[in-house]
Amino acid sequence: MNNWYDTAQICLNGHVINSMAQSSPENNQKFCDQCGAETITNCKSCNAPIRGYYHVEGAIVLQDYTAPSFCYNCGKPYPWIEKKLMAAKELADEIDSLSEEEKEILKKSIDELVEGGPKIEVASVRFKKIVGRAGSQFAQAFKEILIDVLSEAAKKAIWPNP
Ligand SMILES: [Zn+2]
Ligand SMILES: [Zn+2]
Repeated sequence: MNNWYDTAQICLNGHVINSMAQSSPENNQKFCDQCGAETITNCKSCNAPIRGYYHVEGAIVLQDYTAPSFCYNCGKPYPWIEKKLMAAKELADEIDSLSEEEKEILKKSIDELVEGGPKIEVASVRFKKIVGRAGSQFAQAFKEILIDVLSEAAKKAIWPNP
């Protein structure tokens, strides 16, 4: 079998430029034509190539390629995810009705929700408790930022009835 992952070129804001950066480099761009951000083809933490189109020998497979969230090699979030995380944390800092301690707990629980795994359970309880106190306006804003970032398990834990 000769199936392989091409390399994807994606801008720092998550726009997919070229899902076949290796086999069709003529479509590569140094900068994003949608937002002007720099483009990358490798993880910034471990330098592993970002997986793109999956080539299957002898077949042309129609794929709806979307930018991955995490590096398969080191598990770190890609820059477009990191930006959302930062936005969520900045939003946490804007909630005047929370104490500094509550803001810190909220930010930590956001990190844990994005990381996923067994921490999701406790993190989602904390997140819901604090965001619930912040009011529905903030709850909605968090949802809009985090909905593209969280795993299905984390989303279900926070928003069981979407
Ligand atoms: Zn872009
Ligand atoms: Zn990596």
